[in-house]
Amino acid sequence: MKPASTPPPTPPPPPSNRASRIVSVALDVPLPRSFDYLADDARDDDIGRRVSVPFGSGEKIGVILALPQSTDVPTSKLKSVRAILRDMPPLPTDWLALADFCSRYYQHPVGEVIGFALPQNLRRREGLPTIKTDEAYVLTELGRAAQADLPKRSVALRVLSALDGGALRRSALREISAAATKTLPEFLAKGWISLAENAPTESGVPSPKQKSSIGPTLHPEQEAAVETISAALGSFSCFLLHGITGSGKTEVYLRLVDRVLAQGKQALLLVPEIALTPQLEGRVSSRFPGAHLVSLHSGLADGARAKGFLQAMNGEADIVLGTRLSIFTPLPNLGLIVVDEEQDASFKQQDGMRYSARDVAIWRAKQRGVPIVLGSATPSLESWSAAQKGRYKLLELSRRAVAEAPPTVRCVNTSREKLQDGMSEHLLRALALRLERREQSLVFLNRRGYAPVLACPSCGWVSQCTACAANMVVHLADKRLRCHHCGHEEKLPTACPSCGNQDIQPFGRGTQRVAEAISMRFPEARVLRVDRDSARSPKQWNALLEAIQNGEADILVGTQMLAKGHDFPRLTLVGVLNADAGLFAADFRAPERLFAQLMQVGGRSGRAELPGEVLVQTQYPDHPLYRALAAHDFANFADAQLAEREAAGFPPYSHQAMLRAEAPQLAQAVEYLKAAAEVAGKLNEAKLNAGEVRLYDAVPMRLHRRAHLERAQLLVESSSRSALQAFIAEWMTALYQLKATKTLRWHLDIDPLEF
Ligand code: ADP
Ligand code: ZN
Ligand code: ZN
Repeated sequence: MKPASTPPPTPPPPPSNRASRIVSVALDVPLPRSFDYLADDARDDDIGRRVSVPFGSGEKIGVILALPQSTDVPTSKLKSVRAILRDMPPLPTDWLALADFCSRYYQHPVGEVIGFALPQNLRRREGLPTIKTDEAYVLTELGRAAQADLPKRSVALRVLSALDGGALRRSALREISAAATKTLPEFLAKGWISLAENAPTESGVPSPKQKSSIGPTLHPEQEAAVETISAALGSFSCFLLHGITGSGKTEVYLRLVDRVLAQGKQALLLVPEIALTPQLEGRVSSRFPGAHLVSLHSGLADGARAKGFLQAMNGEADIVLGTRLSIFTPLPNLGLIVVDEEQDASFKQQDGMRYSARDVAIWRAKQRGVPIVLGSATPSLESWSAAQKGRYKLLELSRRAVAEAPPTVRCVNTSREKLQDGMSEHLLRALALRLERREQSLVFLNRRGYAPVLACPSCGWVSQCTACAANMVVHLADKRLRCHHCGHEEKLPTACPSCGNQDIQPFGRGTQRVAEAISMRFPEARVLRVDRDSARSPKQWNALLEAIQNGEADILVGTQMLAKGHDFPRLTLVGVLNADAGLFAADFRAPERLFAQLMQVGGRSGRAELPGEVLVQTQYPDHPLYRALAAHDFANFADAQLAEREAAGFPPYSHQAMLRAEAPQLAQAVEYLKAAAEVAGKLNEAKLNAGEVRLYDAVPMRLHRRAHLERAQLLVESSSRSALQAFIAEWMTALYQLKATKTLRWHLDIDPLEF
């Protein structure tokens, strides 16, 4: 029997806002999570859209990652978004997945990854560059169904039925009626149409693009490389294209780009430093005059970068050529990725998110099911070893495309000779000979400035930087002492600041001093110095290049800046000073870098009909590195290095991560790392004991003080990448909770290149 007085069960209170949904937003803040907000008008297709949200006392622009059903945040605490910005299409799902991968692999907050990967202008509410787009649309199932309900002869119905026949560009739709394009935003919003993945050509029918001019007839090896890679278009595979400078790698890339464009797809070309390679840009644009080329690099104005990003994203850009950052360009029709000079250290970002654009590129190629070509004269040992094991497919170009033979490489033994201004008799004679023959020479040394240090012989004072554990470099040209690590500079003192001695002296030599000495010895020669001081802007750099190409210089004195990707047809001699430092450096990658650099700089000589000669001044002429160099035998060098690495358990035979800390006091930095190591030990005792993940001691970095901060590091290593990744994920969670003084900064560097 029911008591009559029982009140009926209370219905649940009506939701305060029926339409409200939860949106999970990535925000560019240093916290490893996303942020939940309420949005009245959120729709399923808003994932990937930018959104403006209240944050703290201000506003931030974020990106919607998901529309979760529930949230851990109490509903009363949830704030509402200010606006979902629908002024551009959502960032594509595969782009968000790329950001997510980087966030997990490099242990970097996803909001920061996205903030970094998005051009500046897109991180603001306003400021979207206006680009005239001609994107293509397709009909969705919803749109197909909607046709039945539309009035006959309405513009809406005509647009939809036109699309029923296949994808059409905006320009084609405009032909139906001037009002047709006005319907597009509404149709997109209703979900009746969507942007086409594979844009058709003007006629509406996808057809090959006739956009290229013809290159030279390929050599058999080039032909084979092009055919092999072309056959792999449409699925993932990784190729290592190994060939010395001038062997025709770039020509191979261009042929592949041609094929990709013919399929209506986009190509992504990554190069180390675009500011230094305007030649490649010129070569690409003159080969593909009809193609839309977007070049992206850090020197670009914000607006231009955002524009290129959007043009790539809407499928308008056919070729994207850029530096490491351009790996984050959305490319709906991606067909091929090329990474030129794949070993180059500038593909690795050394601050913020310390990602390797080459490694991310490989992941991306796999994600998108497209081939990737890594090209190099001196591949990284990681890539070389992968090719030896068959993980990458090795393609060899064994000869120069035009010149008869590679340059002759000789070592000049400097251990028995008194050098004159750092140069041997042999080198001086070789320079004189080139002058006589009106050919160009290059004297290479990797040290800019006049001298690396100023010192007082009487009291022992040296020009130490007040902020760094390093010496300030003498720059005689503008009479300054300059720290190359923190940028601090001072006036060049005329007397010892410590004892007043007027006889203070520069020790060692940099490019300025060598250039000066050469000018004294060869007064008739036109000497041109090329380094970061003489080529500060792209404009200065181009002017220098032009002068060299026009034969306005007889002897170049330069740093590695000169080593990359330039043809100097009259250059027949390269002299290398001070190379030995790389042989015995503490960093296990130093020999690899030295070899690559010498191959590269040597490759500058004898590119045309004139045979080239490389003279390496060394105290160790019999060192295996130099022997391999003289024999142009990268494989020999690489195999010897890999054997050493295997014995020592270094990469690629192990995987590494570096935790670095910096603080005003060295003890603080080291203490923090010790605490971090302790946490790691506790977290992962079992794994550590099993030897899966090894932790080294926290030690001061080699440059232990920079810009007033003391720096220390802790190396973590494992032979298993997945074990390391799993360990680090756990460890990071703990590190975010580890107490540290306010002045301490730390970061994790996955696959570090710098030691
Ligand atoms: P890499 O990229 O390996 O340094 P490039 O592709 O730039 O080599 O080629 C070096 C030079 O040889 C360029 O001037 C290029 O135009 C030319 N070249 C490349 N392939 C051929 C070929 N098959 N026939 C004639 N010249 C070629
Ligand atoms: Zn002194
Ligand atoms: Zn300094």
